[in-house]
Amino acid sequence: MRWVDGHCDVLSKMWSAKSPLSFYRRDSNLDVTWPLMEQAEVGLQVFALFVPPEVPGGATWQAALAQVDHFYESVVGDGSRMVPIRSQRELAALERTGKVGGLLSLEGAEALQGDLVHLRLLYRLGLRQVGLTWNGANEAADGIEEERGGGLTRFGRRLAAEMQRLSMILDVSHLSVRGFWEVIEWTGLPVIASHSNCRSLCSHVRNLDDRQIRALIQREGRMGITFVPKFVTDDPDRATVEGVLRHVEHVCSLGGEEILTFGSDFDGTDRKIPGLEHTGHLDRLWEALIKRYPETLVKRWTTNNWLHFYSKHLPSGGGFPPRQTDDSGI
Ligand SMILES: [Zn+2]
Repeated sequence: MRWVDGHCDVLSKMWSAKSPLSFYRRDSNLDVTWPLMEQAEVGLQVFALFVPPEVPGGATWQAALAQVDHFYESVVGDGSRMVPIRSQRELAALERTGKVGGLLSLEGAEALQGDLVHLRLLYRLGLRQVGLTWNGANEAADGIEEERGGGLTRFGRRLAAEMQRLSMILDVSHLSVRGFWEVIEWTGLPVIASHSNCRSLCSHVRNLDDRQIRALIQREGRMGITFVPKFVTDDPDRATVEGVLRHVEHVCSLGGEEILTFGSDFDGTDRKIPGLEHTGHLDRLWEALIKRYPETLVKRWTTNNWLHFYSKHLPSGGGFPPRQTDDSGI
């Protein structure tokens, strides 16, 4: 295994496509496919369930379920090549079996429709990670582009508490700044930014400032450097692989070698960095990294940091934790 990718939107793309897209063939409409994953030796891919904002509130749950169905029917299939990763045990088995893992995450709590029943059902379907928002506000919190800049709602706090009970992982990419700090201060959840870059190098609001990055370091979270041109540089037309490396260097300069990972956002954006346009191109990023850094470090960033995180924070056996009597949460 050469890569773990912390974020892609291929399920959402397959779900919204007018004609069926094929994950197991080279399909030029998809950035993430099995042949490309094989080419780049991706051993674990995080698959986001993303329901776009144009979907009316009443239809979000159905849309998320349809994407879960794509995950099992079109990606996992008969399990001969890809398997769902829901526990430490399943993650540990990857090395032995040589199969590729797929981990389900939710990008935005819209699909939950303000009901924890939906979280629990998605958990039983394999969901282990939740990003509270996309760019706007929802029942749980404000996203980073919501101008009022609010934090977690009452439902957002209850959601975080239930995620804690279930041993889930919280993703702060897209979350408002206030929401970020509330998650850090109010919850004991494992926290990641699955696809976010450094604000001090590129001023887009989606990026994290140095204080936030230091908080993730202190929390022993993870930060997935992402390839979306407008998050790499203030002049997106000039985004390059070299520009991605500047973010790597910056996280390291803050002491973040241990939290540094990658989250491509492939299939989540139409604009790409030339030469880093699909999963097969991860090879090129590997070559660029290995020219500059020792192999042990490169391996940490491309695989081991994610693997160590998930092997620590996924539930051990994949079972469903019993309801606790103390439900006070946060
Ligand atoms: Zn995203």
